[in-house]
Amino acid sequence: MADVAAVHVAAAERQLTELEVFGREVAGCTRCRLSQGRTQVVFGVGDPHADLMFVGEAPGFHEDKQGYPFVGQAGKLLDKLLAGIGLDRGRVYVANVLKCRPPGNRDPVPDEIEACEGHLFRQIELIRPRDFATKLLSGKPAGITRVHGAEQQVTLGGSRVLLYPLYHPAAALYTPAMLKVLEADFARLPELLGRTVAEPVLAAAPQLAPIAAEPAVQLGLF
Ligand code: SF4
Repeated sequence: MADVAAVHVAAAERQLTELEVFGREVAGCTRCRLSQGRTQVVFGVGDPHADLMFVGEAPGFHEDKQGYPFVGQAGKLLDKLLAGIGLDRGRVYVANVLKCRPPGNRDPVPDEIEACEGHLFRQIELIRPRDFATKLLSGKPAGITRVHGAEQQVTLGGSRVLLYPLYHPAAALYTPAMLKVLEADFARLPELLGRTVAEPVLAAAPQLAPIAAEPAVQLGLF
């Protein structure tokens, strides 16, 4: 038994190291134009073995300055929503599709997503979450208003995950009705975390699901 435990501990340490090493690699990435205006790469943060991973669109102003995703008011709301289902940041992993801030918080363009999504796929490969909550990677040509709260089994970057599109907390900051929807969608997460992901039939491709932009707030893109 002790040997088995030691193997698990060694494997866990190896995974953490790989994620950290990968984070250092990405910190110097110049694959797309966004490298020119960033303060720093915002790689992601949280439990490197999390079952639940949140993925936003791209770093905003505060994320770019601080180097962490989901900070500021939207981050505080995420913390509150997590607390509502008995979780905290230490037990999930949060990241963005794009690791560098688009100037003026503009929407990312397709070639930037294409350049950067491999980083996210590698993170998923290393973290291996069972669930994957995001408003970004719906895999369907429909807006978030139609796909939020509807889980789907997909393969992303070679990893099988249960994808669960959500509104970005920033969208709920100023809209009480949207906050209620977000709370209801969050309330299903414990149930989803208890499920096993089945074999996927087809890999899903990221799709753009445009929603109305809100000034000075990064809302999401796919
Ligand atoms: S946005 Fe992604 S691909 Fe572009 S420079 Fe930053 S890390 Fe590299």
